[in-house]
Amino acid sequence: MSVLNQKTVKEVIKIDGVGLHNGKKVHMEIKPAEPNTGILFKRTDLQNNNLIVPGVFNVSSAVFCTTISNNFGASISTIEHLMGALYGTGIDNALIEIDNDEVPILDGSAKLFVDKIIKTGTTISDLPIKIIKIENKILFKEGNKTISIEPNKISLDIDFEIKYENSFIGNQRNQVKVYEDDLLDIYNSRTFCLYEDIEKLKNMNLAKGGSLENAIVVKDEKILNKEGLRNEKEFVNHKILDCMGDLYLSGFKIIGKLVCSQGGHKLTNQLLRKVFSDDSNFSIIEVKEKNIPHSYINKNILESIA
Ligand SMILES: [Zn+2]
Repeated sequence: MSVLNQKTVKEVIKIDGVGLHNGKKVHMEIKPAEPNTGILFKRTDLQNNNLIVPGVFNVSSAVFCTTISNNFGASISTIEHLMGALYGTGIDNALIEIDNDEVPILDGSAKLFVDKIIKTGTTISDLPIKIIKIENKILFKEGNKTISIEPNKISLDIDFEIKYENSFIGNQRNQVKVYEDDLLDIYNSRTFCLYEDIEKLKNMNLAKGGSLENAIVVKDEKILNKEGLRNEKEFVNHKILDCMGDLYLSGFKIIGKLVCSQGGHKLTNQLLRKVFSDDSNFSIIEVKEKNIPHSYINKNILESIA
């Protein structure tokens, strides 16, 4: 069976936790799904109209986290780390059942999602994967924040930088090739906030489940988490994880080169809205092994794409 065929999880994965923003307990199950289902969320606490597609145009809020909604007002928040894990581990199809309106934050990273998906394994279907190939360069700017995506040969490259006045975070930049690089540092990197912003978030009724167990808290020249950082570029690496998750709302893996400075959920979503507003900006290719010019793509890369 081809590694370029669509994959789903081999068995049901069960995860319990709390929502970062709503602070409520949540039970989530990642279930196997048929080919061409894509990723689909189901709110099991709602009787009707409880299916929510994680699509670019279904993003109802992208402030602090990514929230998707259906036409009936049912929503799910903080989907980005789970979506990043599904993207990176090559899960094309899955039904995500959840009994509340926010994905559990766990340790603030995608580590547990990735560990569980890898441990459970995947079932490979006999249908080929589809990939979105970016055809035109698209740029989106907002103040001093910029994001762009342009055509690339065969990979998804993400080049991300952050610039913080806080000198502990400071300026960080990292570049990854999503289908080729070891993404362990990306998956393991936790969400973060400034100590002085916690009060603001709580006043906005956000971060009610937030703690040092699920976020890095930066105060002046240090972090309050006793265990320290997990990797040298944990801040920007987390932003890359967010970006991967938000990109997966396009429905398929992407071939393109993305460059972002000081962006986040909102900017990534605005970029994708611009890309998908014009059919000439992208094409969708079905990757069948016989169509691949083997002289130009080596087998290792093929495995990492799938
Ligand atoms: Zn995040």
